[in-house]
Amino acid sequence: MAVPPEIRDAYDPERFRADGHRVIDALADALARWQRRDGLVLPWRSPEEARVIWARKSFGGADLVDDLRRIAAASTAIAHPCCFAHQVPPPLPGAALAELVSAMLNNGMAVFEMGPASVPIEFAVLDWMCARLGLPDGASGVLTSGGSLGNLTALLAMRHARGDGDVIVSSDAHYSIDRAAHIIGARALAAEVDARHHLTVAAVERALASAGDRRVIGIVAAAGSTATGAFDPLGELADLAAARGLWLHVDAAHGGGVAVSPKHRDKLRGIERADSVVWDAHKLLMMPALVTAVLFRRGDDAYGAFATEASYLFAHGPPADHWWDLGTRTLECTKRMMAIELWCALRVHGEAWFAQVIDRQCALAEALADRIEASPDFELALVPECNIVCFRHRGDGITGAKLDAHNRVLRERVVHDGRFYIVGTQLPTGYFLRSTIMNPLIEESDLDALLAHLRELCRA
Ligand SMILES: *Cc1c(COP(=O)(O)O)cnc(C)c1O
Repeated sequence: MAVPPEIRDAYDPERFRADGHRVIDALADALARWQRRDGLVLPWRSPEEARVIWARKSFGGADLVDDLRRIAAASTAIAHPCCFAHQVPPPLPGAALAELVSAMLNNGMAVFEMGPASVPIEFAVLDWMCARLGLPDGASGVLTSGGSLGNLTALLAMRHARGDGDVIVSSDAHYSIDRAAHIIGARALAAEVDARHHLTVAAVERALASAGDRRVIGIVAAAGSTATGAFDPLGELADLAAARGLWLHVDAAHGGGVAVSPKHRDKLRGIERADSVVWDAHKLLMMPALVTAVLFRRGDDAYGAFATEASYLFAHGPPADHWWDLGTRTLECTKRMMAIELWCALRVHGEAWFAQVIDRQCALAEALADRIEASPDFELALVPECNIVCFRHRGDGITGAKLDAHNRVLRERVVHDGRFYIVGTQLPTGYFLRSTIMNPLIEESDLDALLAHLRELCRA
């Protein structure tokens, strides 16, 4: 039974070599173009138009590299220095190469033998992250696909450890916390943040009092909230959690990365006392999506989330006796070799490189905030604590709903124009534009250009 030539050809090493060189050349050209600030950040098309463009009646016969080029050209250019939008970094190019290797090796990782290199590398990365957060010996966890799944994993473990009950969450919590609470059968009791968007002990105590006779099992704090980048007072919340016997989960999906910066790591003080932490490496650690760590102060809690046995897959006996089978700790069965990207990046660049990146992101955010404060036509929502800046255009003395509408229209114009990209967020004080500074190649002149662009669109 001969292998059909079509099958052999798709796996031909020389075809892969030739296509691979063309793909890397195309991506290197794109990187250079973005760095020259050429082209649009967001090649806007309406969803209806876009669906028509990409729909196909039949498949086959296309040139892979041509198609990939077309897809890249129609995609949002995250690595373009005029992209000031979501918490998505321009991925470290070396990490993209590591991901290519992961795709080619395709080691599934649920069991050790399906990841004889990537499983121990995942432990090395987890140990490094636990150490950076100051978690005690015995802390451990797992890498999973995204902060949302990470928060669910942590809350499932919380319920396994503490039994049924409700959780107190910040009114600024990421929506995945609310979803996770629903999935574990808990009510998410919102505690109002203060004017600086911090979850205070007083607010948590008020929420506890209002819980009545419902049992509360935990508190969810944020270290770098999504909307404003605010860091909750983790030490004080850890004291309260300890005094009340509550589980403390810290959603550090965004802010966990500041742990590598000697300049900024103080913002996380108290995180070492959390029962569980979620930390996205695909945010401040510049990895391509998705690489999320769910870390537990007591490593054995990691088995609580999915404490059932898939005996065909995992060895018999308590999961801790087979700690090397990572699949016992995560919802995922097959997963990408997600640790190799961060491990290689740390090996190549060292921790100090990451500290430099984070320090620069925060310094650029501060510089943008300074410019906004110095501009009478803009208003800063609050002093940024990391790399997220919320602000709005004042319009011509308009207020309230009119001011909100003015800024919504402005953001829509930014999106349709495509030369820059920012997002927006609803805060208690109104609708604000929101910029996350992820790209360390941004210069101060780009900040001036962003504000000039917004002014131009206001006049249009
Ligand atoms: C980004 C973010 C999440 C969600 O993480 P994903 O990786 O996008 O699923 C959760 N919490 C916070 C605070 C975040 O900033």
